[in-house]
Amino acid sequence: MENAAFDTDILIAGGGLAGATLALALARKLPQLRVTVVEAFPLAPDARPEDYQPSYDARSTALAWGSRLVYEDLGLWGELARHAAPIKHIHVSDRGRFGATRLAAEEHDQEALGYVVDNRWLGLSLMKALADLSQIEWQAPAKVVDVTPATEGVSVCLDKDGEALELTAQCLVIADGGRSGLREKLGFRIEHTDYAQHALIANVSTSNPHQFTAYERFTDAGPMALLPRGNPRRSGQDAALVWTLAPEALEDILALTDEQRCERLQQRFGWRLGRFTRIGECSHYPLTLTTVQESVRPGIVLVGNAAHTLHPVAGQGFNLALRGLVALVEQFERAVRERLPLGRIDVLNAYQDRHRQDWQDTVRFSDSLIHIFGARVPALAAARDVGLVGLDLVPGARKWFAKRAMGLGRRTVSQEDPRR
Ligand SMILES: Cc1cc2nc3c(=O)[nH]c(=O)nc-3n(C[C@H](O)[C@H](O)[C@H](O)COP(=O)(O)OP(=O)(O)OC[C@H]3O[C@@H](n4cnc5c(N)ncnc54)[C@H](O)[C@@H]3O)c2cc1C
Repeated sequence: MENAAFDTDILIAGGGLAGATLALALARKLPQLRVTVVEAFPLAPDARPEDYQPSYDARSTALAWGSRLVYEDLGLWGELARHAAPIKHIHVSDRGRFGATRLAAEEHDQEALGYVVDNRWLGLSLMKALADLSQIEWQAPAKVVDVTPATEGVSVCLDKDGEALELTAQCLVIADGGRSGLREKLGFRIEHTDYAQHALIANVSTSNPHQFTAYERFTDAGPMALLPRGNPRRSGQDAALVWTLAPEALEDILALTDEQRCERLQQRFGWRLGRFTRIGECSHYPLTLTTVQESVRPGIVLVGNAAHTLHPVAGQGFNLALRGLVALVEQFERAVRERLPLGRIDVLNAYQDRHRQDWQDTVRFSDSLIHIFGARVPALAAARDVGLVGLDLVPGARKWFAKRAMGLGRRTVSQEDPRR
């Protein structure tokens, strides 16, 4: 419930994908609450969605079917869908081995298993939707630099243009990303695995159309994903590449020309999409698995990458974050209905209990993919062949894999598809 004793009801530290989506969800579901979003980067008030052009320098996100339902519920899907390439098939294969499995949306009576959206388009669409909502206040560029518990809430210190600004809130939601400075400052304990690999990200073009197929290819050097991009209605030749590499191999690739990179990619990926004709700007990220042991404290909750950062190859990180946001908003709705303070620990614990199993299952799923498919041990490699073929032969296994890929492993009430 709104509480005038505080400067704001919910303060979100970080206006990235998770923070901005949460702000939109709160505005839609609980318009009576005052929400403040603090974002370290300046917002671009003159960025116009109508000027958007898919480009060669952007990162993309594979949104699962369940995430589409979340954005439909928030009234944003219509806008996102304008540049969301549907994934109609997933092809999982192992380079140099005979096992391969194919999943098709139609087998599951879905129009798509998921969608690929450029992060820039996702960001622009979110900002456009948030721009006119009077209950949301932005502090940007500004950084949350300190947090102190207060009676039934928190007191937060911001650094805005070198000036200190104090704000009190019923609840602080920390959405400051995978290297969360606030998580560290507040001493939340984490479990951390360094995969000793990097993800190289680039947009690429191929001579054959992608036919809306996402490829997950496991090579002896690490997994690689190619996701269809571009026009949602016409199968094009643009794809988003996520290429996992050891540090030395990454250095090697970064030293090559674009033409040489296309050749190297061709050797790794093969010819299923014809020739690689162009590769855009490459960026890279160290791969880690980081999860908090506890994500809540009185008046404080961690969401998005601040709570769990996964290996990107299974495309699960943001989808998991979205399901967590849905679960959190549901608990805030309950607190408002029952006139409870939003930061009360039992409210936040109820959220954590609801989300924990999903986050543990998703972490296990993406981590096991990396371990099984990254295996160089012959026995494991053989098991992996059998596993891939087994996925094709055992309908239950395929269904399980497809459900996880669609983000429907565990549905929350608001993710039930009303059309089914
Ligand atoms: C290569 C790669 C590919 C991926 N592909 C997929 C995919 O296909 N599907 C999928 O589901 N997920 C994917 N993910 C995961 C997904 O990108 C993340 O889950 C998502 O970006 C997390 O968003 P976030 O808002 O939690 O964090 P971030 O996007 O990191 O945002 C954090 C924000 O907080 C701000 N900030 C930081 N500190 C402060 C502070 N003190 N005060 C105020 N603001 C602050 C930052 O400026 C930033 O804007 C991928 C990740 C990687 C690395």
